[in-house]
Parts: sequence; structure tokens; C-alpha cells
Amino acid sequence: MDLNTKRTWAEIRPDHIVHNMRAIRAALPEGTRFLGVVKADAYGHGAVAVSRALEAAGADYLAVSCLDEALELRTAGVGLPILILGHTPVEYLPTLLACGLTQTVSNLAKAQEYEAATARLGGRLRIHIKLDTGMGRLGFLCAGDGFAQGVENVAAACSCPHLVPEGIYTHFAMSDMPGQEARDYTLAQFRLFTAMLEALEEQGVRFRLRHCANSGAVLHYPETALDMVRPGLLLYGYGDAEDRLGLRPAMRLVTRVATIKTYPAGVRISYGGLYTTERRTRMGVVPIGYADGLFRCLSGRCAFAVAGGQAPQRGRICMDMCMIDLTELPDAAVDSPVEVFGETASLDALAEAAGTIPYELLCSVSKRVPRVYL
Ligand SMILES: *Cc1c(COP(=O)(O)O)cnc(C)c1O
Repeated sequence: MDLNTKRTWAEIRPDHIVHNMRAIRAALPEGTRFLGVVKADAYGHGAVAVSRALEAAGADYLAVSCLDEALELRTAGVGLPILILGHTPVEYLPTLLACGLTQTVSNLAKAQEYEAATARLGGRLRIHIKLDTGMGRLGFLCAGDGFAQGVENVAAACSCPHLVPEGIYTHFAMSDMPGQEARDYTLAQFRLFTAMLEALEEQGVRFRLRHCANSGAVLHYPETALDMVRPGLLLYGYGDAEDRLGLRPAMRLVTRVATIKTYPAGVRISYGGLYTTERRTRMGVVPIGYADGLFRCLSGRCAFAVAGGQAPQRGRICMDMCMIDLTELPDAAVDSPVEVFGETASLDALAEAAGTIPYELLCSVSKRVPRVYL
């Protein structure tokens, strides 16, 4: 692909994603299976390309949020088992069966609905049971007084003759947070999960795939790996401890200086005149704005990597462009590449400046930005 024709693009390194999977695996007990979370277009990296790379490199499972995301992968020829993490309306059951997808079941009523529809259609639906051990989102209730009822409901769901309960999982709410309170909360979630597994086993209900470890847990609680881990962010090479596992960021968001203007002191820059030049200033205009996923709230609060150093961003970020100060960077010229995040400019720092998490910035790199696979 000819990068010279691109205004702004995202360079994606599937080889880094494969490297990250291997690095994560190497840190876990031998034989731990690997599920790659590729929801939300693989956190903006392109679900098809990422899934193909993971499949070729020996991943065991993929997870997406909804049926449409799963179908995109099947249509592209991805054959790995795919877990749908969210709900699928029962009228789409024929598609689930025809495409060999694995459906999350998060309460007894849904299990019964899927059971009745599968019995009518013929066939069997592969499911993973989801437990709510403290996330307060999807899942069978099982905390506190709800324990015995939770066991009973899961056992009832698993006894449905047209459902194949292959797996069971839960999701941690605080595994990526520092501090004792988060640690206690996470370990309490894990204890509840394993207590449920034991109580179910006593009733003869066993699962081939028990999984709970998201990125935070893979890093901070490797003892929760069980049969399979389920990381997303780490797979793409981000997160607070990317250094520890030697992970490599898989995306580089790049643009190019479109034009450079030299202003005297006292000139106001962009909408609202938020920034006024303080001296003679070489100001670059770069074709990236909030329609590309560069949040407007970052206006005046970030810097991009340009040949020779960091260029502070000045004035309001517009829909399609923004301005960067090149006064201290005499080597920067029209057409010079500008890295918004990636190798030199850190995504984590940009997320912090925006008051958010790296996940949100990755998912926000918009459709207008072509993904270029290296
Ligand atoms: C998104 C998601 C993950 C991956 O989370 P990371 O923090 O990116 O590792 C794992 N499990 C479930 C249920 C999820 O929704």
C-alpha cells in the first residue's frame, strides 16, 4: 500500500500480536489455553486480520461481543471456536448453530429459551455459563445468600438436553487496579468462582473450559489462569506492565505534516482562539482530528512525536485537523511523519491526558483511518 497517498493511517503489526500471545503464554502454566478477545474490531486493530494471525499462531479460542462480529470472522473463513460474550436474541439461533458459534448463557430463563428453540430446530447449541461473582453485569447471581440458588440454576441450565455446556466463566471488575481493596475484591471474586465450581462438581456438573483471567488478572493474578485465559488489552501490547512481559504495541497512529506556517507573537490559533502564539512560531497543520478519533478534550494537552522530538499540540483540535508547534523542531518539514501514538509517543500517556483508558482511544480510531498491515 502506498502510504504517500494517505493523510492519516494506523500501522498494525500482527507479528507483534502473535509475539504478545506467546509472551503471555510463556508466563502461564504449561497447557493453559489462550482465548484472544477480538471484540470491537479487535480493539480497533481489525478483527479479521488479528483473528487470522491468532489462528495461524495456535490460539485456542476467540471472543467477540455480538453475533455480527462473529459472522464477520466466519465469513472471512476463520475456523477457531468463537465465544459470543453478549446476548444473542433467540430468533438468531439457526445462525448460531449453522456457524458453530458458542453462546454465553447468563441466566436460567435464557438457557430455557435457547433449549426450547434448539429442541424445535434440532441440533445442539454449545454454551459457556457466565457467573456474576462481583462484576455487577451479566451472569448468574451467586454471591452471598444467592449461592445455593445460583448452583441450582446453573445445574438446571446445564441439564438442558439440547445445550452443550462446554465452559464456565466470570469477569473481574478490579483486577487491573492497584491497592489492597482491589486485591481483596478480586480474590473474593475468584474464591466465589471456585466455590461455585466445586459445588457444581458435587452435583456432577463439570466443565472442560473454566476461565476468568482478563488482562489485569493475567498480569497480577496468574493463579487465576485455570483452563484458559482471556486477555484483550495485553494482547495488543498495552497496559500498565507491558515492560514486564516484554509486550510490543501493535498499533501506530501516524499522520503527516500538511503545511507549515510561521506566525509572529500574538496570533490566535484555531476555534475559540484558545492558544495565542507567545513568540515567532513555526506551526504545523496535521490532518488528524476528532473525526479520526483524536479526542477534542486533548486540545492543548498532548504532544506528538516528530523527527527530532515532541511537538506540542496547540489550540482546539478540529474535526479533521489540528496544529502542532514545530518551533523547536527545525528538521520537521512538510510531509514529515507525525506519530500520535505507537513506538515513541505512548498511548497510555495520551489516554491519561484525555482522562480515560487506552481501551477507549484504541476503539475510537475511526473508520476513516485506514489500517495498514505490516
Ligand atoms: C473485554 C473482555 C475481556 C478482555 O478484557 P481486557 O481487560 O482487555 O483483558 C475479557 N472478558 C470479558 C468478558 C470481556 O468483556
